[in-house]
Amino acid sequence: MSKSEADWCKKIEIWWLLKGVKETNGYKRSTVSWGENGSHGSITVEVSIWGDEKYARFLYSQTDHSGEKKDFDYKVPIIETPCHFGGSRYWFQCSLYKADKYCGRRVGVLYKDGDWFGCRHCYELTYSSRNKDRRYKHYPTFRVLELHQQIDKLEEKAKRYTYKGKPTKKRQRLEKLYRQTMFYVRAFRASEKGIDFDVSRGRDF
Ligand SMILES: [Zn+2]
Repeated sequence: MSKSEADWCKKIEIWWLLKGVKETNGYKRSTVSWGENGSHGSITVEVSIWGDEKYARFLYSQTDHSGEKKDFDYKVPIIETPCHFGGSRYWFQCSLYKADKYCGRRVGVLYKDGDWFGCRHCYELTYSSRNKDRRYKHYPTFRVLELHQQIDKLEEKAKRYTYKGKPTKKRQRLEKLYRQTMFYVRAFRASEKGIDFDVSRGRDF
């Protein structure tokens, strides 16, 4: 089993990390293990939601293919958002860079597929499987669901349609999201019929 295959199922959920954190003054240190008695590895995660800098700090070491041991120690920002009915929600802000672009997505779960913990968008995971064929079969549906959520949020905010005769920025973004949605709906239909469809093109919009 390659390192990546062993790692892909490693995930950390923020709600789990933050369980009972309010009772310990907003700071907590946990050990997260995988496999029986940590046979698939274990790491230490420190969370702090006290003060201005909210973060999860990941500490672990691993041995690479050449047998060299590498220590990891890095922070992933935690974001707090207010809930509609009071209280607040917490999210990880994915800190991975993909093709030199900072991800920054707000997510509730981080995965490890390689050296670092990052979001499922960066690692192109679906909820159901990472298996390549199934991944591509399900990927469009997940994209459509995500896009719908984004659209709903933006529609709420984008009250104005035009400004000085031109579509507003939010409107332009919405149009783009709608075009993407159509693309993935077509991709999904194609996959249902067993037709090959290059989903990677959906990022070109
Ligand atoms: Zn990411």
